[in-house]
Amino acid sequence: MTRQFSGDKLVIASHNPGKVIEIRDLLGNFDIEIISAADFGLPEPEETSLTFNENAELKARAAALGSHLPALADDSGLSVAALDGDPGIYSARWAGPDKDFALAMKRVMDALSNKGGNNMDKGAKFVCALSLCWPDGHCETFEGVVQGKLQFPPRGDKGFGYDPIFVANGYTSTFAEIDPAEKHRISHRADAFHQLVEMCFN
Ligand code: IMP
Repeated sequence: MTRQFSGDKLVIASHNPGKVIEIRDLLGNFDIEIISAADFGLPEPEETSLTFNENAELKARAAALGSHLPALADDSGLSVAALDGDPGIYSARWAGPDKDFALAMKRVMDALSNKGGNNMDKGAKFVCALSLCWPDGHCETFEGVVQGKLQFPPRGDKGFGYDPIFVANGYTSTFAEIDPAEKHRISHRADAFHQLVEMCFN
């Protein structure tokens, strides 16, 4: 049985104000006080796991134990089929210390070229794991996905990260070219959130 969220406070295990705002919006219909892990002075644990789900869980579990409240964390990234899932959980790290995503996108393009040039399968997906953990260590974790393909050179200036090289199935524009509201409707994060709300907030 999936455990239901029944409290009135939820800690977001992220120090990224953008993520906290996005999650506050997504849970806006529920009467829940959203608190950032930074407000508790909780440290951000190192992402030592090898899967999105486990990384989301370790962040949520650490925040739940530290705050004595249920906590929600996410972990996301771009997974390229021909690169055996890379950059995957290392998506943020491929951008280097300066968070240079032009560099990260070039690294993806070069890695694909080294594999076989233009004939390579350009299939890719964005993945988002969302984990809700309680102070007793119990977690409910959901994985959202949006399937698509890569295109080069990067196009568009609306998104972030790898959006300029990602075209979702059924679209011709990249995630950085489409209306952000449309992206938020079909994205991996939306998929994971729908599952979370359906299973734990009803
Ligand atoms: P996280 O904050 O550890 O989950 O890192 C996720 C990384 O994956 C981000 O830094 C982005 O590079 C990439 N990423 C995740 N979601 C998206 C998206 O919706 N668009 C573009 N890049 C994304």
